[in-house]
Amino acid sequence: MDHVKHLKCLICGKEYATDEIEYICPDHGNEGIVDVRYDYDLIKTRISKESLAANDDYTIWRYKPLLPIEADAAVPPLSIGWTPLYDAPRLAEKLGLKHVWVKDDGRLPTASFKDRASAIAVVKAQEQNADIITTASTGNAAAALSGICASMEQPNVIFVPEAAPPAKIAQLLVYGSTVMLVKGTYDDAFELCLEAAAEYGWYNRNTAYNPYMTEGKKTAVYEICEQLNWNAPDAIFVSVGDGCIIGGLHKGLKDLLALGWIDHIPRIYGVQAEGSAFMYEAWRDGEDVLTKAPVSGKTVADSISAGLPRDRIKALAAVTETNGAYICVSDDEILTAIPNLARGVGVFAEPAGAAAYAGLVKAAADGLVSADDRIVVLNTGNGLKDIKGAMKSVEMVGTTPNRVETNLADLKQVMQEIK
Ligand SMILES: *Cc1c(COP(=O)(O)O)cnc(C)c1O
Ligand SMILES: [Zn+2]
Repeated sequence: MDHVKHLKCLICGKEYATDEIEYICPDHGNEGIVDVRYDYDLIKTRISKESLAANDDYTIWRYKPLLPIEADAAVPPLSIGWTPLYDAPRLAEKLGLKHVWVKDDGRLPTASFKDRASAIAVVKAQEQNADIITTASTGNAAAALSGICASMEQPNVIFVPEAAPPAKIAQLLVYGSTVMLVKGTYDDAFELCLEAAAEYGWYNRNTAYNPYMTEGKKTAVYEICEQLNWNAPDAIFVSVGDGCIIGGLHKGLKDLLALGWIDHIPRIYGVQAEGSAFMYEAWRDGEDVLTKAPVSGKTVADSISAGLPRDRIKALAAVTETNGAYICVSDDEILTAIPNLARGVGVFAEPAGAAAYAGLVKAAADGLVSADDRIVVLNTGNGLKDIKGAMKSVEMVGTTPNRVETNLADLKQVMQEIK
């Protein structure tokens, strides 16, 4: 890993060699999130736009020289990355915009964006010959770790709140993880998992604790920019819970700018749910994210329910340093966005994924984006992850199924009625 210079603490600025600390800066309890810093001059000798154009590995590993792993590291066999970036002219037109794309990370192997991070976690854990990997999660990070571990025969222990959607719990059980359903919130599960990892010496994948998760998540913007022929978009919309994804997008864009592969950094818009709007409030009111009290975290979009966003330092910087904004949407707006996104471009998102689109709807109405902006909306999770949310969403827009008897006469009757 000669291309990694050091790990830099985002609170005190102290720099550590990669073998000096495993996860966090030890001077700040569990909060000392560090950032992986690279030697871009060295990286430039190993990867270029031209070498990428000739590379037919369409997974996140095409960007291996930019990832914090060894060049010869064994990677999971599942196909992670290079998800489609769909042009969405009908959505754009509806919002009075010209260029909107939707990147669908619901297409990843375990059906959420989290596969990008968990893939790195498993590679790092195996680098260290870890017996067991652990994580706490609202559901998707767990499913991602679980599925990727299954593909590599890696034992793992997963902590999720017992209220996680059944589909996500089913994934864990099917993949064969040891599952702990915690009788509490995600925040409770997170604390318990940290304690368990310390007690048993397990490899810890937890978001905003393990510095390498951001590095997996950044691959989404590499793909977006490469898919747009290195013409970076003007704005990116993403939903925010713990803030690791948004921090990862920002990191990836800074990498690309440092390499000279893009000529500007897009504005990043973080979308939060009203009941879980810690970052939005802190950004709006100029509050210190390290001392601000947790919020309730209550929202229909379980994947962005985070009372105390674990990656709040990176999450705030992603918006302030790119002149973006935080946007807050109601649960009703999130649910309404599910069928509208599905019908406008054919992408079926879980509530947290659709929240990003709900944020764009609001931003367009409020004039935060202009008609000419080239805008990317990131869908972070597949709609099949949360059928209860999906059924509520169609209720919101008044779509109901028709009931017919088993004969054509009755069908004709029904067809007449719905005309
Ligand atoms: C985890 C997740 C998010 C939010 O990511 P954070 O890093 O927690 O901000 C958004 N959408 C989906 C579907 C997720 O699984
Ligand atoms: Zn520090």
